[in-house]
Amino acid sequence: MVLKVSDRCDLCNGNAAAPILELPPHTIVRCTVCGLVYVTPRPALAELTGIYDEAYFRGTGPVGYRPDENYIGDDTRLDIFIERTVAVERYRRPPGVLVDVGCATGFALRAARDRGWDCLGIDVSEFAVNYAREHYGLNVLKGTLCEAAMPSESVDALTMWDLLEHVPSPRKECVEANRVLKLGGVLALATPDADCPCPSPEACDPAKADFWQAKPPEHLYYFSPATISRLLAETGFYVVNLTSYGPGDRRLGAMEVYALKVRTLPG
Ligand SMILES: [Zn+2]
Repeated sequence: MVLKVSDRCDLCNGNAAAPILELPPHTIVRCTVCGLVYVTPRPALAELTGIYDEAYFRGTGPVGYRPDENYIGDDTRLDIFIERTVAVERYRRPPGVLVDVGCATGFALRAARDRGWDCLGIDVSEFAVNYAREHYGLNVLKGTLCEAAMPSESVDALTMWDLLEHVPSPRKECVEANRVLKLGGVLALATPDADCPCPSPEACDPAKADFWQAKPPEHLYYFSPATISRLLAETGFYVVNLTSYGPGDRRLGAMEVYALKVRTLPG
């Protein structure tokens, strides 16, 4: 079955998609042209922003982290962000400006600041922004990357850890990342890998067993190595490293991508 969808594909602008999973009121579909997996209907930014409140991060709300994850207080998470910052530095070293979009309570910024980067965080969550300022003295803005209206070619490294799957238009984020990054600057991101099979179908919600990262309206896009690579190539980046994590790693089911800005998009 192929649906004609009103939310056009963010990658190829197609409007034909095949349903993968019904999670009312949302449907997860795969674009029949380029293979991008996404959620329809697509929530508006204002609706999305409301999700990321204190309950989301503390694990006491209907969506978000689980209470036993202790997201905010679990400083063992810092290790992952130190490792990621070290990976960024293979391509660009501090001193320099590093912007973390979707910074949440500031793990990535703490790691980067400790390594000598001049850091700015951006997040739509008022709770997270206030927390990052008050607890860690971080330089953070509330809003989106576009709303931050940064000068063109002013940034050395831009990170989007677990961001693109949450935003209304990943293409728009990458286009703006291209504009603010210097030529040769690094874009680093992590997002679920839609091609990663469910590690334990027997323990998974049966409705989601075939597509276990399904989490609308938090997760609106499910990239594969192929679709994320196409998006980055079309927005002026050259992928230098793409790693997908399997069993045995805390990042199971996620992929990390490091890309360099190799051309400036026409304005
Ligand atoms: Zn498409």
